[in-house]
Parts: sequence; structure tokens; C-alpha cells
Amino acid sequence: MKFLYTFVCSKILNKMLKIGITGCIGSGKSTVVEIFAQLGIPVYNADFRAKFLMEKSPTVIAKIKNLFGDHAYKADGILNRKFIADKVFSDTALLTQLNEIVHPAVFTDFEEWCNTITDKKYVVKEAALMFESVSHTQLDKIIVVTAPEVLRINRTIKRDHVSSEDVIKRMKNQFTQEKKLSLADYEIKNDENELLIPQVLELHHKFSV
Ligand code: ATP
Repeated sequence: MKFLYTFVCSKILNKMLKIGITGCIGSGKSTVVEIFAQLGIPVYNADFRAKFLMEKSPTVIAKIKNLFGDHAYKADGILNRKFIADKVFSDTALLTQLNEIVHPAVFTDFEEWCNTITDKKYVVKEAALMFESVSHTQLDKIIVVTAPEVLRINRTIKRDHVSSEDVIKRMKNQFTQEKKLSLADYEIKNDENELLIPQVLELHHKFSV
């Protein structure tokens, strides 16, 4: 109920544009978002806030304990990520239930965060699973950052020191780049041929009028 109330209020009161930035693993979302941040645009990182809420929101903590048991948290209250990752690894129904706890909490948290910003033409929300979590419905426009698959895989291997198999496994939990693109309003090409900054500036000017 609070979720719906916050959403309706923000739609009526807050005229500021809410821009979503998404893309596949290694496409360069964080790199693009950093350019918007350098331009003074407030940035909300959904993955970071999800982790925060899983450790700090009493409602989210209670729901996670209800789903996974008390072992979901260590004695010091820190989330037992390995325990949860092991549980959801082979159980997609459990992963869906976890997402049904975390995604609405992030949705509401983003609306509340937007309501604290009064003097900006637009804000940016970065989320890897934007369409998958249906959070694109709270955004006015969506940008998808794209790059050829081989480049995305190689960047992730280099950044995270993981195998290509690991990256491909993670990619399978997300919509394909083509699907994300078909649902988006704008594309930023991060293929290392096109320059990023002019593409960001063009959108910045569009959103700033
Ligand atoms: P994830 O969804 O996995 O968090 P992401 O889409 O946010 O990834 P980034 O973290 O921005 O992607 O980029 C992945 C890696 O590729 C980083 O190490 C980043 O520095 C590097 N990278 C991104 N864009 C470029 C580029 N144009 N040229 C060179 N390296 C790049």
C-alpha cells in the first residue's frame, strides 16, 4: 500500500524526469552513469541500494529471514550472501521469491529518494535488471548501453577475474541485449568505436530542457 501511495504521490508532485540506464553485464552502464554524475546529475544505483536494504531495512530483513531462516544473516547482522547464493543457485522459484521481496523495496526506496531532490531537471537510476524487475514502469525514459557480446564478456573477465563460463552463466539470468534494446527509448553505443561523452551530452541536453 505504501509502495502504491509513494508512487502515485511522486507522479503527481514530482515533475522531474526519471531516466533509467540499463544494459547487459559488462556493457558499461556504470561507466556511462559516471559521466552523468560528472555532469552533476543525481544517480541512484539499484544494485547498491538493494544490498543496503537487505541489511538495513527491518521489513526486508524480516521477509528474508521468513524465506530463508535465521541463517540468512550472520551473528553480526551482516547478510550471509554465500548462504543465500547457494540456496537460490539451483532453485529459480526461491530466486523469484527473493526478487519479489527486494525489487518492490528498491522501487519504493527510489521514489522516496526522488522526492528528496527538488532542483534537478532529471535524475538517473542505474539497474542491471531494469526490465526484468519491471522497474522501468516508474521511469520516464530508458537508455540501454550496448556493446558487442565478445567485448562485454572480455571486459567482465578482466574486471571480475572470472572465467568466460561464469560470465555466460550470469548473462543467462538477464534479458538479451536485443530484447533490452527493443524495450528502450535510447541507445548508447559503448563499442569502443563511438565516443561515449558526445552520446551522453546529446541526451543530457535533451533531458535538461
Ligand atoms: P555490470 O553490469 O557487470 O556491473 P556494467 O555494465 O556496469 O557492468 P562497467 O562496470 O561500466 O559495466 O564496465 C565493465 C568494465 O569494462 C569496467 O572495468 C570498465 O572500466 C570497462 N569499460 C567500460 N567501457 C569501456 C570502454 N569504452 N573502454 C574501455 N573499457 C571500458
